[in-house]
Amino acid sequence: MKIAVLAGDGIGPEITGQAVRVLQALSSDGPRIELEFAPVGGAGYDAAGDPLPEATLKVAGQADAILFGSVGGPKYDTLPRAKRPEQGLLRLRKHFDLFANLRPALVYPELAHASTLKPEVVAGLDLLIVRELTGDIYFGQPRGVRTNEQGEREGFDTMRYAESEIRRIAVVAFETARKRQRRVCSVDKANVLETTQFWRDVVTEVHGQYRDIELTHMYVDNAAMQLVRNPRQFDVMVTGNMFGDILSDEASMLTGSIGMLPSASLNARGFGLYEPIHGSAPDIAGKGVANPLATILSAAMLLRHSLHQEAAARRIETAVRKVLAQGFRTADIAEPGRRTVGTKDMGDAVLAAL
Ligand code: NAD
Repeated sequence: MKIAVLAGDGIGPEITGQAVRVLQALSSDGPRIELEFAPVGGAGYDAAGDPLPEATLKVAGQADAILFGSVGGPKYDTLPRAKRPEQGLLRLRKHFDLFANLRPALVYPELAHASTLKPEVVAGLDLLIVRELTGDIYFGQPRGVRTNEQGEREGFDTMRYAESEIRRIAVVAFETARKRQRRVCSVDKANVLETTQFWRDVVTEVHGQYRDIELTHMYVDNAAMQLVRNPRQFDVMVTGNMFGDILSDEASMLTGSIGMLPSASLNARGFGLYEPIHGSAPDIAGKGVANPLATILSAAMLLRHSLHQEAAARRIETAVRKVLAQGFRTADIAEPGRRTVGTKDMGDAVLAAL
């Protein structure tokens, strides 16, 4: 099995470095894994004048999955838009049609204190947001700024979802729920928006093939409120691109630890790009203090969803739980006054726990 490792910029190389050590350790006594490395983002621009060099796209295309670090940094902020690091990621998503974004928000008992919400509200939270990633108002045409009939300038975008786009994300949500608590909450704004009434109708139709899964619907404004009122009521939440963008950031911060959360972006073939939800953290890049656990957990998701190596995925997740229980903390997840470890020490601890 082949994994393309695109480390990117900032802390990207440091954190993927630890995930790579974990994958290599697993490969020595488990599934045989080959890793191939290629530059992306600012590193791609530095190497080849393009945030997604042709050679990198080729490496990714020949792999079974992509492990992605993070891209971006102040050095690249003044480049023309097409050359900016984030274009590397957006083009990868588009090229591989990565329409299903899976973002778990999990609160480890040892880290319940790290949330800004009361520990009794978030302890034990295990929520998965399934966000549609390639449609909706973010891509709908026409869009732009024009002068209207009254001679005033106006901005406009188009919210649009094709039935097939809704069907395939609903299938991902129901299939994923089957491996969890079998509950799906579909989030929309069907009381106001035609597109999302259509979303609700199609999700309900798809549910016909998943009678073993409980389906509920919720308006997005209520969902935003329920996420901070009682987040543990949710198992799988499925929603469109824009609502998912906002709700998944809200949900991730319930856990209080951006350095802990992995994500997967999948296409219909199960090919996926796996990355931590955080960015390149230029403020701590090169200091050896970044938390590598989100990337290590992304590697676990990769093994589960693209390589179908459930046992290996669980080994990683169990090892992460173990190091947290043993008290290892990088600075971002440490209680005040507690001793902290660096990026490599955390990697060492996970390897030992494996
Ligand atoms: P960020 O996620 O990089 O950092 C936010 C804060 O969280 C910083 O204080 C950072 O030090 C901290 N942090 C992030 N990851 C951490 C980790 N693993 N361990 C410890 N602390 C961690 O967000 P930002 O500062 O808004 O963006 C920085 C750059 O990253 C920008 O160029 C942005 O465009 C880019 N970005 C990239 C991605 C991606 O590659 N998918 C996502 C978001 C932002």
